[in-house]
Amino acid sequence: MAIELPPLPYDYTALEPHIGEQTLKIHHDKHHAKYVTVANTMIAGTDMEKEDVITILRKAKESGNQGLFNNAAQSFNHAFYWDCMKPNGGGKPTGKVAELIDRDFGGYDKFKEEFATAGNTAFGSGWAWLVQGSDGKLKVAKTIGADTPLTNAGDKPVLTMDVWEHAYYLNYQNMRATYVDTFLDKLVNWDYVNSQLV
Ligand code: MN
Repeated sequence: MAIELPPLPYDYTALEPHIGEQTLKIHHDKHHAKYVTVANTMIAGTDMEKEDVITILRKAKESGNQGLFNNAAQSFNHAFYWDCMKPNGGGKPTGKVAELIDRDFGGYDKFKEEFATAGNTAFGSGWAWLVQGSDGKLKVAKTIGADTPLTNAGDKPVLTMDVWEHAYYLNYQNMRATYVDTFLDKLVNWDYVNSQLV
């Protein structure tokens, strides 16, 4: 099975006014689609053609195939990112993740500050993450470029935020911090985050 480009889980206009139709069209149909196409071209005719995207990106990392890693990791990261948002999302979480955030960060406000700082300080292009470690504890991480916590043994991503400029520039220009606050206040799909917890 080749790497797939899942359709957006909502309409192109569903996240307006926070993320506009043009951003979602270009981001999903051009950027995400290209990562998938390039990765599939690179694995065509190899044993990896039958693997899933997580196995492919891990094998690419281990073997030092940076080009394949970048495109496979970005294929995963973007598919995950779309699921992490929904219309009328954001704000304080509910359910198990709310309990774990209270336990592991000392409250939602402290989590929010740490997650926002990760997004705002990822230099250049990158991602902010909420990750569940093998000990069950939640922690914030940031990665640069295509890097993903999936290459750290035992770390399971449960939330991500794309902070590449293509994710926010049409709506927010240079004001990444405003996009980051909006993501947290208006867009996070906490139901999906809960579904990702171990
Ligand atoms: Mn992106």
